[in-house]
Amino acid sequence: MNELDTSRRSFLGRAVGACVSPGFGRGAGAGGATPAAGLRTLELAGFVDLQVNGFAGVDFGDPATTAGDLSRAVAAIQKTGVTRFLPTLITSSLETFAACARALVRAGHPSIAGIHMEGPYIAPEDGPRGAHAREHVRGADLDDFKRRQDAAEGRIRLVTLAPEAPGALPLVEQLVAGGVRVAIGHTAASRVQIQDAVAAGATLSTHLGNGCAGTLPRHPNLLWEQLGEDRLLASFIVDGHHLPPATVRSMIRAKTPARTILVTDAMAAAGMPPGVYTIGRQRVELDATGRVAAPGAPNLAGSALSIPVAIGNSVRFTGLPLEDVIPMATTRPAEYIGIRPAGTVVAEWDAEAFSLRVLSVAG
Ligand SMILES: [Zn+2]
Repeated sequence: MNELDTSRRSFLGRAVGACVSPGFGRGAGAGGATPAAGLRTLELAGFVDLQVNGFAGVDFGDPATTAGDLSRAVAAIQKTGVTRFLPTLITSSLETFAACARALVRAGHPSIAGIHMEGPYIAPEDGPRGAHAREHVRGADLDDFKRRQDAAEGRIRLVTLAPEAPGALPLVEQLVAGGVRVAIGHTAASRVQIQDAVAAGATLSTHLGNGCAGTLPRHPNLLWEQLGEDRLLASFIVDGHHLPPATVRSMIRAKTPARTILVTDAMAAAGMPPGVYTIGRQRVELDATGRVAAPGAPNLAGSALSIPVAIGNSVRFTGLPLEDVIPMATTRPAEYIGIRPAGTVVAEWDAEAFSLRVLSVAG
């Protein structure tokens, strides 16, 4: 740990002991790379990603996705160092959700730690709704959730919803009582509605700073309310497209590293060359800069991000030391869903380029 370049010390002033990932290795470059070269080889816990819509050309939200497709996607995700993740199914009909959830559960991959159900109990308005299909957005009710949870054989572990969706608050209480984590996202909630959702048991803000209106009253608004609410952890998509660097820096300062989780929100285009891909029923385009959006649409539609890139960007944007950022993609998301990180990742950190290169993954 002491080998870290102290000039990049955190704005928080020190590495917080509780934030240091188990297995965060010492630099192994004594005989080769020198501190001046900024290269270190590290042994890390396997990464945990709570939001993955697809990968390597495979869309988890497409009922036509086969078991072979899923195996290919899981293998490609693992190569990025992610050994546990939540496949994420965005707003769709009950039938589509059920078919996709069944396929994911029956695939039986140990790296699938459950399902993240994002929608359909979200805001219908353009802006907060993002790339979710408007026709399938609906009010929240336990009966609809139970049908989806039955199809998923009880594996839905995280639900993202809008507190203002009709029926959302009682459902939050019921989900939490049943051991399902609840996140706030794709929402136009008022200050009071955010507070009510937290009181009901919501514990996470999903990709905070995205999935809300493009224009908000300066204060109060749902961003300040969630940023200042210590009972909420927050996930962020740090790909350089979803949030500008100063926003990432300010938001992580507000939440503190201890309440920050890095997610990719990756979709089928992740790990693939620029081109046209799908997320749910929507066609989207990955451009050469790594931005994923429907052609001509202002809102982004998932990302082509990987966790190692998210870690590198987070160090670059926040000035935090690497050892404060690593837990945002390992122990913190794992603890949030009640698991432990699995396996190990050997990676090379280039402090000059803010680049974390995965060399090998076990487990
Ligand atoms: Zn989303």
